[in-house]
Amino acid sequence: MTRLLIIDPQFAGDPDIEREVTGAGFEYDIIRPEEGAISADALKAADAIVNCRSRHALPSKLVDDMDRAKIVVQAGVGFNHIDIDACAKRGIPVCNTPDYGTVEVADHTLAMALDLLRATTAYNNRLLVRDDAWSTLQLPVRPVRRIRGLTFGIIGLGRIGRAAALRARAFEMNVAFYDPYVEAGTELSFGFHRYKTLNELLATSDIVSLHCPLTDETSNLIDRAAVERMKPDAILINTSRGGTVDLDAVFDGLRSDSICAAGLDVLSTEPLDRSHPLLEAWTKGESWLEGRLLVTPHAAFYTPQSLCDMRRLSTLAVVEYLRDGSLRSCINLPQLYRHGFEFGPYGGQSAISVN
Ligand code: NAD
Repeated sequence: MTRLLIIDPQFAGDPDIEREVTGAGFEYDIIRPEEGAISADALKAADAIVNCRSRHALPSKLVDDMDRAKIVVQAGVGFNHIDIDACAKRGIPVCNTPDYGTVEVADHTLAMALDLLRATTAYNNRLLVRDDAWSTLQLPVRPVRRIRGLTFGIIGLGRIGRAAALRARAFEMNVAFYDPYVEAGTELSFGFHRYKTLNELLATSDIVSLHCPLTDETSNLIDRAAVERMKPDAILINTSRGGTVDLDAVFDGLRSDSICAAGLDVLSTEPLDRSHPLLEAWTKGESWLEGRLLVTPHAAFYTPQSLCDMRRLSTLAVVEYLRDGSLRSCINLPQLYRHGFEFGPYGGQSAISVN
């Protein structure tokens, strides 16, 4: 029997989707948040681990308890909460699941940008409480402007960044990006404008949208100086990771009108801390912020379909590796090499069967 440990799954009840993927021969240990911390015993007994939420860190202290684990899979994209080097030291590949919610996050990004630019939520909220909100005099809301011809600036032209870019282009926006890690010529493949520096992107974009991972390099990438470089009528959208944006800087930028609006699906503190000055003003409905801030509860990834894909694909990563050594989206290959473990890009064997 293979023991699969699932930490804090995003489903209640039976692991039916997982069972369909693994077939017989697997036993499940499921730890749910109400059951407290991840126990050393559960880690020690596991042959494979699927970690479902970023709030559950796997630091080296916990990795040291993984006596039998052959693979760790993050059921999601971000992996900054896992000590991937500590896993590599023990020869454990770590995989993420980057392909479950790409279109949902891209749709959410555009939904936020369009909502701010068309004031759909702001008009709705006015009409709920004021009869005169039907009058033309009540139509001006700060971010509202013609979408066609605006520049949609992307930080991080990966899977989600590209999907967002294609959607922005369908609305006749010009697409620009800053991503020092994509190949030369990517701009030609897509017909997007490439900026060599973040500052150029910030200074020229009408919408700045973050789609990079949270790393040492991108932590607080949007700080006070970055906000000050943006256009006064610019909109900031963050569906990446909360830590890429300094919320104090967004508050100052909105309060001082050095930017116009923001759409935040992710926050540096989650769940949200309503005592932060920006979220306090938003909670109280202060008039200076009307139509200028949208906050959603780290929900960009979510549809019932994307959750099923996340469960199926993260389990598939376990099964494929245990079955034939093939790796699906391994994120610690360089670290594994460094510690003397040899894997091809797709795992120990050259053949790979994905999907
Ligand atoms: P990806 O790995 O496909 O793309 C990330 C891109 O960012 C890459 O092209 C990389 O080169 C680029 N990048 C890295 N460092 C950079 C830097 N310093 N400056 C600019 N670009 C940089 O990842 P993805 O699947 O597109 O995910 C993007 C982000 O979305 C991640 O932060 C992920 O955690 C987040 N995400 C959020 C949700 C949600 O529900 N809000 C869901 C899924 C993913």
